[in-house]
Amino acid sequence: MSDSCFICSKHKGTIHTAGKMIYEDEYVYIGHIDKGDSPAYLGYCMIDLKRHVPTLADMNMEEAKAFGMAMARISRALKESEGAEHIYARVSGHGVPHLHMHLTPRYPGTPQEYWGPWEVLDWQDAPYGKGVQVDTVCERLKVHMEANHASGDE
Ligand SMILES: [Zn+2]
Repeated sequence: MSDSCFICSKHKGTIHTAGKMIYEDEYVYIGHIDKGDSPAYLGYCMIDLKRHVPTLADMNMEEAKAFGMAMARISRALKESEGAEHIYARVSGHGVPHLHMHLTPRYPGTPQEYWGPWEVLDWQDAPYGKGVQVDTVCERLKVHMEANHASGDE
């Protein structure tokens, strides 16, 4: 835990962010980005490791297992509930040295010149939304993940 870290502060509840929670357990947190008054790319999720470590290499095996399962579950939810045809994943850590992964779904019809983890965001017909539109996507993802979890699909 680091007091000056944005992600630690978010999980500690000392700051409030606009992102929406989709899933949380003892090791990981999955949220959807929310840009307030500006539209956000729908389905753009972030997986945070709860513990303050900078890179993928620093996870212990319990955390790695939880992180991997979170990746698989949210990706499956993005495909099955939001109709994504592919999920891009990226860890950069240049901005905040606390492990978090960006997941950006690619939707059917995305022209090939926009294929890529950040490129999809620039397609003019990409689905963007704010407020209730983001809430609706989060709710569907949450329900999908809980349903899969309940069926023992691990
Ligand atoms: Zn941190």
